[in-house]
Amino acid sequence: MLTLDTTIEKINKIGTAVAQKLNKLGIKNVQDLLEYYPFRYDDYSQIVKISELQAGQKASVQGILEFIQNKRSPRKRMMITEAIISDETGQLKVIWFNQQFISRTLKVGERVSLAGLVQEDVTGPQMVGPEYERLTSGSATHTQGLVPVYHLTANLTNKQVRFLIKSVVSMAAQVPELLPAEIIKKYSLMPFSKALGIIHFPDNQEEFKQASRRLKFNELFLIQLTAQIQKAEVKKYQAEKIKFFAKETKNFVNSLPFTLTDAQKKSSWEILQDIQQGQPMSRLLEGDVGSGKTVTVALPMLNVALNKKQSALLVPTEILASQHYDTLCKLFKGSKVKIGLFTRSSRKANTVIASEAPILRGEAKQSSEEDDVAVKTGLPRDFVDTKSLAMTKKEMLKQIKGGKLDIIVGTHAMIQEDVEFKNLTLAIIDEQHRFGVEQRKALRKKSGNSKTIPHLLAMTATPIPRSLAQTVYGDLDLSIIDEMPKGRKTINTYLVPEKKRTDAYNFIKKEITNEQQVFVVCPLISESDKLGVKSVEVEYKKLNERVFKDLQIAYLHGRMPAKEKEETMQKFLKNEINILVSTSVIEVGVDVPNATIMMIEGAERFGLAQLHQFRGRVGRSNFQSYCLLFTESLNPQTRQRLDTFAKSTDGFKLAEEDLKMRGPGEVYGTAQKGFPEMKIATLDDHVLIKEAKEATLDIMTQGIDNYPELIERVKKSNEWIIG
Ligand code: ADP
Ligand code: MG
Repeated sequence: MLTLDTTIEKINKIGTAVAQKLNKLGIKNVQDLLEYYPFRYDDYSQIVKISELQAGQKASVQGILEFIQNKRSPRKRMMITEAIISDETGQLKVIWFNQQFISRTLKVGERVSLAGLVQEDVTGPQMVGPEYERLTSGSATHTQGLVPVYHLTANLTNKQVRFLIKSVVSMAAQVPELLPAEIIKKYSLMPFSKALGIIHFPDNQEEFKQASRRLKFNELFLIQLTAQIQKAEVKKYQAEKIKFFAKETKNFVNSLPFTLTDAQKKSSWEILQDIQQGQPMSRLLEGDVGSGKTVTVALPMLNVALNKKQSALLVPTEILASQHYDTLCKLFKGSKVKIGLFTRSSRKANTVIASEAPILRGEAKQSSEEDDVAVKTGLPRDFVDTKSLAMTKKEMLKQIKGGKLDIIVGTHAMIQEDVEFKNLTLAIIDEQHRFGVEQRKALRKKSGNSKTIPHLLAMTATPIPRSLAQTVYGDLDLSIIDEMPKGRKTINTYLVPEKKRTDAYNFIKKEITNEQQVFVVCPLISESDKLGVKSVEVEYKKLNERVFKDLQIAYLHGRMPAKEKEETMQKFLKNEINILVSTSVIEVGVDVPNATIMMIEGAERFGLAQLHQFRGRVGRSNFQSYCLLFTESLNPQTRQRLDTFAKSTDGFKLAEEDLKMRGPGEVYGTAQKGFPEMKIATLDDHVLIKEAKEATLDIMTQGIDNYPELIERVKKSNEWIIG
């Protein structure tokens, strides 16, 4: 007897090979199979009489198989199966290539159903390679009505998936209802089990719409409920209250070589206010590339240090960690704040001098003698202002645990088991979309005591409009830096026509002679069958062997081992490489001051927001920088999109433009690790998102504890949320 939990291997007639392929798609049991939704349908809802077939039309035909036979093609390379189908109005010629088994599957005299594109030749209508099935028992699955089309993996066919789902679809009736009756009623939702059956084999558009609405609602509801539950969970914990040191903060701000933008001040202030509370902060700081997020969080970190507590800054790569470490050392130069760097291959800490500390003068406790390099080395204080000391892992762990370091900048290495903090109070995650939920959770467990959890701040350069961010990051409060520091040089952006490519290469040569460096971004790693799309491998070879023979060229892509990537990046950073050919993986947030040209191949294949991220990799120095876009697309809309990009430098505006043109599903869909995974809903389902949110808040107000099944379900699908 089948149940919803029955593993798919046990479904009648399923082969091991097929079962394995389905497993690969994440389908383990009957319920998974039922929840494997089609991504589109072929509309064969009209059964057309043969005499009425029109060339160019997609149609479903039913009739008697009059004739079927295999023969070799004239050039012998192909097996052709020819057949004739007739209904009461006429005859239809059908041809399949290299599927000789069809002549054994379909028998002359039987009723069959076909669906496909109608073509016309001199002898009348014909179909080439249509979907087919026998109509001996019951209704058609593959050739009639709205025929579901599923995402597949190699060697798995839609026919197989349809067949399997059809064989279990009656089980959908057993899937329990999750939503409370009042919500189903309020939003006029179809019962879940019914929707689950219909979504695979809808009888008509209207039915499909209702089913799809219900399933989307479910998904969006669960995502938002998860966020709300998460938020409520976090509120049950306590966090350290961080007292605000007004004078010191002011001194610090005055010591900066620039004035903070209003947006930086506002965001910093929001964070500072949050961490004064005994409730843990959960906040997302959004700010365009180069908007100055680092110094914005330096203020709260300073206050945490003044409260004699620790902050951690988690970043995705070693290079970024070391850059952040240097930046913070500079920012806190002359203060007493102690900063450590903790990565797999590098561990060090700055040492500072109390007497030179303008920020802390007066208030500060003298640093203990053993920590003071001036005392240790006997050097005059001026000489040892800020100096990094390397340490062993053991030493470093001791320093962290002993509370000797106020700020620890680190990679994944920092959240491993053996790293213990004395009192981690503020956990900051940079480039948060590069981290999974596990890492966030691990960081939040590291307060150093069992009574509190750290305040959490996630940072991202992905410009997501506020309303959308509230949906996908429902558990986080939001701060947005929507303003760039004054006086930034704009990066000159051009859509370069193909005939000017050589000019562009000459320009690049000239820039490199002046010590500048260049990024070349390509959409693919290797050449694929998608003709004409540039790949890293091919472009690298071309540039290296032909165009820039004398220059140092390297490549970077996601399939390289992490260590190799890191090394290549290091070399690029040291200007040992002139040109870096890369996929979209080029390190987020990394500063390569010498890089002044960003050349993007196949620009039409990237979203505006993504192009903007690439562009943010250059323009980090006083030199004029350039972004050169190449496209082979002649589509006027595409060119207009790229023109928009060339004219605007505002990440948020671009994101909004992009959203208008492509919708959030496309814009943010694939690139974001932190986004909820959606099977059927999309971020474009505005109305449903709003309704689902309303419903979620209703449930929360009534008390989530009244809905134990919902809590259980949420725990099961609690994949993406910030812990
Ligand atoms: P991101 O938001 O991309 O992380 P960073 O924090 O790395 O940006 O800042 C980018 C650069 O801008 C840094 O060199 C930083 O010193 C500088 N910066 C930050 N804030 C300001 C400001 N208000 N005025 C001028 N420059 C600033
Ligand atoms: Mg940054």
